[in-house]
Amino acid sequence: MVREVQPNIYIIEVPLPGNPLTCLNSYLIKGKKRNLLIDTGLNHEECKKAMLEGLASLNVKLEETEIFVTHMHVDHSGLIPVLANDLTKVYCSNLDAHLINCCVPNCTGTSEFLNEMQKLLLMHGFPLGEVYQAIYEHPAREHNMGKVQLFHIVRENDLLQVGDYKFKCVGTPGHSPGHMCLYEINEKFLICGDHILDEIIPTVKITKWSANPLGNYLDSLDKIAEMDISFALPAHGKTINNVKARVNELRQHHEIRLNEVLGILGDKSRMNAYQVASKITWDVEYASWEQLPVLLKYFAGCVAASYLIYLCNQNMARKIDSEEVIYFELI
Ligand SMILES: [Zn+2]
Repeated sequence: MVREVQPNIYIIEVPLPGNPLTCLNSYLIKGKKRNLLIDTGLNHEECKKAMLEGLASLNVKLEETEIFVTHMHVDHSGLIPVLANDLTKVYCSNLDAHLINCCVPNCTGTSEFLNEMQKLLLMHGFPLGEVYQAIYEHPAREHNMGKVQLFHIVRENDLLQVGDYKFKCVGTPGHSPGHMCLYEINEKFLICGDHILDEIIPTVKITKWSANPLGNYLDSLDKIAEMDISFALPAHGKTINNVKARVNELRQHHEIRLNEVLGILGDKSRMNAYQVASKITWDVEYASWEQLPVLLKYFAGCVAASYLIYLCNQNMARKIDSEEVIYFELI
């Protein structure tokens, strides 16, 4: 489905098979000579079909269209090589461009990104069998672009002109290490990727490429709360009309979770992220941690680790680096 959300800005709804987010809002901005497409969908036939039909219904030619990727996740980046040719500019932050290419399988069939995630999961106490299964089921394994892509790197405050719109690049690390939004400087709206979403809490997970992802995320929330934003166009779900209120809700969510994690840590002498994750009250339909599908355990464990690392940075907890697994305890 395609609809106009602002003059010459269209949402192309791209279904996301097998993904609980169900659908991606890809934004197509029509320019005078060149168009800009923001985020692409998975490397999957259904996504490709919806995207190509959406572009055709808008009379948009791919040869006249550049691509901007808000962040590395496969539901945003997977379809790039289907849409881009050698002359297409594919804009992305330096770090997430690197990470997107890190997800491309190497000659052994695995990828640098997933190898590093595997090491992290083991360090944070995941059982070996669950590590292998989570990596096997990881969407970055199945839906990545399949080949290395040349990116046009954008940096903070870079300007992109599309038709009458002038967008400023705003780095918002947290949801991914190099997440980037686009701020329209005259109309004052933000195309915000997954940085803030309406009704959904964007995940903030550990990776090798960020030392304190939750700290980065909360700073990025502060950053956009200080900007003059009339509304935000997210990559999933509805337009956010009150950005400051949504930022406050997200901050509160993380404060509540951080307190919960402190309480969990207070009950025991030391715990690893996997153990802490198993005690957090996740908003899921499963009765117990044991029943959670392994991919949800993966997300939960990576989020729990980002809370624990944040608490260490706040001097409220400390890491105990034993030989193989990292444990945490209260200070
Ligand atoms: Zn994402």
